[in-house]
Amino acid sequence: ALPQARGHLEFDDVTFGYGEGKTILPDFRLDIPEGQTVALVGTTGAGKSTLAKLVSRFYDPTRGRVTLDGIDLRDLSQADLRRAVVMVTQEAYLFSGSVADNIALGRPDASYDEIVAAAKAVGAHEFIEQLPDGYDTDVNKRGGRVSAGQRQLVSFARAFLADPSVLILDEATASLDIPSERAIQKALQTLLADRTAIIIAHRLSTVEIADRVLVMEHGRIIEDDAPEAL
Ligand code: ATP
Ligand code: MG
Repeated sequence: ALPQARGHLEFDDVTFGYGEGKTILPDFRLDIPEGQTVALVGTTGAGKSTLAKLVSRFYDPTRGRVTLDGIDLRDLSQADLRRAVVMVTQEAYLFSGSVADNIALGRPDASYDEIVAAAKAVGAHEFIEQLPDGYDTDVNKRGGRVSAGQRQLVSFARAFLADPSVLILDEATASLDIPSERAIQKALQTLLADRTAIIIAHRLSTVEIADRVLVMEHGRIIEDDAPEAL
C-alpha cells in the first residue's frame, strides 16, 4: 500500500521494446527527485511518449523496473497507481457530459465546491461561467463547444483536482492564440507546484519553467541540464 506517494521516480536499468520489435529504451536510467519538473525534448521517435507510458503503466518494462518512492510500479494496486500518477495527453480528451463531470473524472467523490476550486486554481472558472449552463453545460452539445485552449484548461482542472504526486503531460503541439497560450502557461505553473512532473515539451516557455531539461535521442538521454544551460 502507498498511503501518500512523495513522487520520487526512478527508472532502474529499464529496457523496453514493443512486442517483438526493436528495443526502444536500452538500459535506461533516470532518477527524478520528488517535486522536480522535468521537460523532455527530442526528435520524433526518440521514445518520449514511450517513457511516459511506462510511468502510467500503459506498458511494463521488458527488463528492469520503474519505481515510485522505491516501490516497483508493478507492486502497486491499480487504485494506488491511479491516485499517484496522472497523465494529461495532447488530445485533452473530454467525454460527453457536463463540464463538472469532466473535471471530476478522476475524483467522482468530489463536491461541487471542490470542482469549482480546481477550475479557479487553473484559471478555467471564468470561461466555464460564460457557457450557457455554466458547469452543467454538456461540452459536446451546441453552445457548449469549447476551444482547444479551453479543453486544455479543463483537463488541467481535472488533474489539479486529482492531485497526483506524479504528473505526466504530453504537451499539445497545436498552436494556440496568445491569450490562451498565456493562460495555459499560468495554469501549468499552478499545476506543477508541489508535485513531480514530466512534461514532453513543445514550447520554449514550458522548457523555461522546468527545473531540468532532458534531451532524448534513440531512447537515450544525450543532455541533462538546467534550462539556463541549454
Ligand atoms: P514524437 O515526438 O513523434 O511523439 P516520441 O519521442 O514520443 O516521438 P515514441 O512514440 O515513444 O516517440 O516512439 C518511439 C519509437 O517506438 C518509435 O520508433 C515508434 O515508431 C515506436 N512505437 C511507438 N509506439 C509503438 C507501438 N504502439 N507499437 C510499436 N512501435 C511503437
Ligand atoms: Mg510522442
